[in-house]
Amino acid sequence: MIGAIKEWASVALELFYPADCAVCKGAREPGSRSMLCRKCREGLRPLPRPFCERCSLPFDGQAGGDFRCSHCASKAFSFERAVCACRLTGVARDCIHRFKYNGALWLGPELAELLIAAARERIEWEQVDCVVPVPLFRARERERHFNQAEWFARRLVRALPASLSAGNLWRTRDTETQALLNAAERTENVRGAFAARRPAEFMRRRVVVVDDVFTTGATTNECARVLRAAGAASVMVLTLGRG
Ligand SMILES: [Zn+2]
Ligand SMILES: [Zn+2]
Repeated sequence: MIGAIKEWASVALELFYPADCAVCKGAREPGSRSMLCRKCREGLRPLPRPFCERCSLPFDGQAGGDFRCSHCASKAFSFERAVCACRLTGVARDCIHRFKYNGALWLGPELAELLIAAARERIEWEQVDCVVPVPLFRARERERHFNQAEWFARRLVRALPASLSAGNLWRTRDTETQALLNAAERTENVRGAFAARRPAEFMRRRVVVVDDVFTTGATTNECARVLRAAGAASVMVLTLGRG
């Protein structure tokens, strides 16, 4: 009986979900829960070691477990560490982009799985109080219909022992897209773009800031700066892709 129901359910799912791989349009494996074919699925790999313990920057070559990149040696971030789940290249970049801009929501669950795996492995959740998604400017969120960072943050708190704090940290103004700016311009672009509505709620809290991607860290660092100014005891950053 249960077998028959399962079979019916899978037939029903096939009607709603694309039968082809969401990235290359090749054939998906029959019965697979993944929206990707086997080859593309292999491209959705956890961040390969070694990488910088502070900012997750991948390093080509040999390095010990406490390796820090030259960038981190000279730069003072407001967060303690940035944990990133995968490299922002190839299939991973394609999936994140489709999810964020093209409404490919069916890619969300397997991206979230990758994020949760990195979160479990590299963050001590007994020492975290709340998860704060990087907010979008209101008009931007309406245009995109959702905030991808908040979508991942909600998945995260369902799987891990932390509460969600969405809406307290907010974006006070729209900012130019960071993609075409250099590191200094990115920092300038987001300066003063975030604020806490009820700063006292962040007092002495241990916070994990969640975003979809980390490139220079300008955006998440500005969020961390505001949270620390509000009295947060510690801030860590967690993102899906590392650019
Ligand atoms: Zn594929
Ligand atoms: Zn680093």
